[in-house]
Amino acid sequence: MSAPGRVVVGYHPAFAAHEMGEGHPERPARSQAALAALDRLGDRVGRYAFGPASRAQIERIHHPRHVDTLAATAGSPGLLVLDEDTAAGPATYEAALLAAGAAIGAVDALFQGGATRSFSLARPPGHHAEVDRAMGFCFFNNVAIAAQHAMDAHHCRRVAIVDWDVHHGNGTQRAFEGRNDVLFVSSHQYRLFPGSGHYAERGRGPGLGFTLNLPLSSEATDEELLWLHRRLTLPVLASFAPDLLLISAGFDAHESDETAGQRITARGFGRLAALLFDAADRLCQGRTALVLEGGYHLGGLTDSLVAVLEAALDPAEFLADPLPPPAGVLEALLDRLAAHHAVSWPALRQGPLPPPQEPEPGGGGGDPLAGADDEALGGNQEDHVAGEEGAVAGGAGEGVGDAGALGRNTNLDS
Ligand SMILES: [Zn+2]
Repeated sequence: MSAPGRVVVGYHPAFAAHEMGEGHPERPARSQAALAALDRLGDRVGRYAFGPASRAQIERIHHPRHVDTLAATAGSPGLLVLDEDTAAGPATYEAALLAAGAAIGAVDALFQGGATRSFSLARPPGHHAEVDRAMGFCFFNNVAIAAQHAMDAHHCRRVAIVDWDVHHGNGTQRAFEGRNDVLFVSSHQYRLFPGSGHYAERGRGPGLGFTLNLPLSSEATDEELLWLHRRLTLPVLASFAPDLLLISAGFDAHESDETAGQRITARGFGRLAALLFDAADRLCQGRTALVLEGGYHLGGLTDSLVAVLEAALDPAEFLADPLPPPAGVLEALLDRLAAHHAVSWPALRQGPLPPPQEPEPGGGGGDPLAGADDEALGGNQEDHVAGEEGAVAGGAGEGVGDAGALGRNTNLDS
């Protein structure tokens, strides 16, 4: 069972100084929205200390040339355009160093600071940043840097990263796709920016199977998102047995966020977080560090951050919400995705996990529910996990039979 834990957050005023031009959605007001969430939590959450990431820490993930490029923008007037929607201003380099440092600090708070859960409320975000380039509002890949730091500084042997931002975390995937000591799980709206994240992308070489892409349609609801992670992520996490759980926490799947079409509520984010906190309590002494990624509707961002932080304080309160068993199209889709990934993760053949709040039968962590039939669906016209589109569709009748069905294919991210 999840127990209340000590929860700490990381924030620095430099995050609000980073700007990419008037009208850009990844804007300083997002930092104010994060602070508004902290105001609502009051003294129930603490703070952790951190400094800028060192060059050596960043270069464990990024190419030195990329660091040089960004460092050259520090303090210079105007904006240096690095990508079609990503530009560095005079305050960007400092903010990016501190954002990476805040992700590192979130990990340190768990191993040295006595915290159970930590949350870096940094800007700029990071999950699109690749080894050698800025991309999609991101400069340094904060969560990847934090994962590597956990292995280098805290002797973690296995680190799991769950990315629930509405966009695929291409940079994080790329950083670790050849490795089997970092599990990367991404749920996202497919196919939104950056266009990657098909469920067939499963890693390569020794890392084959350690990348788990869980695409959803543009109409995904709380129930679909929660079941996706219960049915797919939780059994894989249990099999992987991480020493640390990192979460790329983006909130652009929020129902009010116009970046994408998904309809996730603030409560839904809290419930998803609670599922993962509960898993971490069982697997790695609760150690969970979250890093902020996207989320562009200010009210939605504040409400969602409050919900996730409240879930961090008391997961049981969120786990108590009823979640009806998946039925019909959703059930078939989950089984189909599970069958696909069961090649690497046999636990997925066992069917849905019991609700987290229920005692495990027989005292053994076994799964009492009937196994999923790998033959389910058979590829008829209702097959929403289509080979080309690769998205799990929304409710009955929602199809992704062609790329256009996803509608809003915007380049905005992160
Ligand atoms: Zn995003």
